[in-house]
Amino acid sequence: MEKKELQKKLDPMTYHVTQEQGTEPAFTGKYWKEHANGSYYCSVCGQKLFESGTKFDSGTGWPSFDKAVAGSVKIRQDERYGMKRTEVSCSKCGAHLGHLFEDGPTETTGQRFCINSCSLDLKEKSKK
Ligand SMILES: [Zn+2]
Repeated sequence: MEKKELQKKLDPMTYHVTQEQGTEPAFTGKYWKEHANGSYYCSVCGQKLFESGTKFDSGTGWPSFDKAVAGSVKIRQDERYGMKRTEVSCSKCGAHLGHLFEDGPTETTGQRFCINSCSLDLKEKSKK
């Protein structure tokens, strides 16, 4: 999608985070304390990225997951600002999502995907 179209489609924070590798302020996003049952999709292209079952409370103020949907994210070393971090982006549209850390709480993956709320779109599963 063209930069101009994206600027029109996305709100300023979402544009900043997904297209300029920004970070939303902690404890301000819409999903950091969300516990609904459902799936999280890329807020730019709609690709499915995370399942609510892998989300956990990290205390960081950003939504955190211990696992991404297979093939949905791209992982890349990010050395901006003199810090070595691992950047996580959408494998389909390249939107910046957040960072990956190796201090996850679960034994299954040991990973913590620290993701900006505005990069995500939650679709709740209908309650039965
Ligand atoms: Zn995407």
